[in-house]
Amino acid sequence: TTILAIESSCDETAAAVVQGGRTVLSNCISSQIALHQIYGGVVPEIASRKHLEAIDAVVREAMKTAKTGWEEIDAIAVTYGPGLVGALLVGVAHAKALAYALKKPLLGVHHIEGHIAANYITDPQWEPPYLCLVVSGGHTHLVLVEGYTRYQILGKTRDDAAGEAFDKVARAIGLGYPGGPKIDAVSKMGNPEAVHFPRPCLEEDGFSFSFSGLKSAVLNYLNQMEMKGEPYKQADIAASFQAAVVEVLTKKTLAAANEFKISKIAMAGGVSANRALRASMEAACMAEKKQLCVPDLILCTDNAAMIGCAAYYQYQDGRRSDLSLNAVPNLPLQ
Ligand code: ATP
Ligand code: MG
Ligand code: FE
Repeated sequence: TTILAIESSCDETAAAVVQGGRTVLSNCISSQIALHQIYGGVVPEIASRKHLEAIDAVVREAMKTAKTGWEEIDAIAVTYGPGLVGALLVGVAHAKALAYALKKPLLGVHHIEGHIAANYITDPQWEPPYLCLVVSGGHTHLVLVEGYTRYQILGKTRDDAAGEAFDKVARAIGLGYPGGPKIDAVSKMGNPEAVHFPRPCLEEDGFSFSFSGLKSAVLNYLNQMEMKGEPYKQADIAASFQAAVVEVLTKKTLAAANEFKISKIAMAGGVSANRALRASMEAACMAEKKQLCVPDLILCTDNAAMIGCAAYYQYQDGRRSDLSLNAVPNLPLQ
C-alpha cells in the first residue's frame, strides 16, 4: 500500500510518500520559520497564504523524489486537525482535489496520531501496546497506545503545553522564535542547578501536567533580578527551566508506566527533539528496565511521513473519509 500524505496544520507545508506504513520513499518539508520569525510567532493568515503558495510544488517534489507515478498511489492522506483552521484547509482542499481527480480513497488523519506514528518509522519493530509521552507545541499528553488506532489518554496538561512553555520562556529571555531549539542549544552553556524552579504537579497523584506556573516563576525571577539591578545569565535560566520541565516529564512518564505495568515507552512531538529530555528518558528507562523508542530528529517536529504512517493503519482498519472531509481545528484524540 502506497500512500501520499499531506500535512499543513501549522507553519510547515509537507508531503511524503510512504509504503506499507513504515517505508518512507520521500519526506519533503517547506518551512515558514524564517517568515514568522520577525513577528515572534506564527501568524495564522501568513501561514495559510504561504501553504497555498507552496503546496503544489511540495506535493510534486514528494512524488518526484519517491519516483512514484500517480497510478501507484493507493490513497491520499491529510491532516484535518487539530491545528490552525486556515492552514489545515489548504492541505484538506488539496488532498480532496487529488483524491477526486485520481479516484483514490481519502484518509483524514489526526495530527497527534501522526506524531505518535513517527515511532513506527524510526523503529521498524516497534508495535503497541506502549505508553507514549506526547510533547509538542500544543499538546502534553500521556497516551496509552493500546493498538495502532486505539488510544487512551492517561493525563494531559491543565494549561500550557510543554512546547508552548519553551517558546514563551525563550521569548522572555530574549532568544526569540522558535524557542525550543534555542533553549536546547544555549542550555549546553548553562548550569541547570543555577536556579531551582518549581516542578509543577510532581507531588500530586494523577498524570496531569501544568506548565504555566513554571513559566510565571521564570518571569518573576527575571523581574526580581531586573528590580535589583542584578545581571543574570541567559544560559543558566534556560538550563534551569529546561531541567524543571525534563524532570517533570520523565518522572511522570515512568510513574505512569509503572502504575499501568507497561514496559515500553515512546515519545512524540517537537519537544521530544530536546537533547536533555532524550538523555533523561534514556537514563530513566535504562534504570527501570523499560524499552524506549524516540523518533529521529526530523520525525519529531511536523512532517508528512508520520501522517502517511498513521494513515496506513487507518487504511488497514478499513477507515475512509469522503469528500465532505473538513478541517477541525480542535479535533480531540478520541
Ligand atoms: P501540535 O503538534 O501540538 O499541534 P505543533 O505542530 O506546533 O503543535 P510541533 O511541530 O510538534 O508542534 O513541535 C513544535 C514545538 O516543539 C515548538 O513549541 C518548539 O519550540 C518545540 N521544540 C522543537 N525542538 C525542540 C527542542 N530541541 N527542545 C525543546 N522544544 C523543542
Ligand atoms: Mg512547527
Ligand atoms: Fe505537531
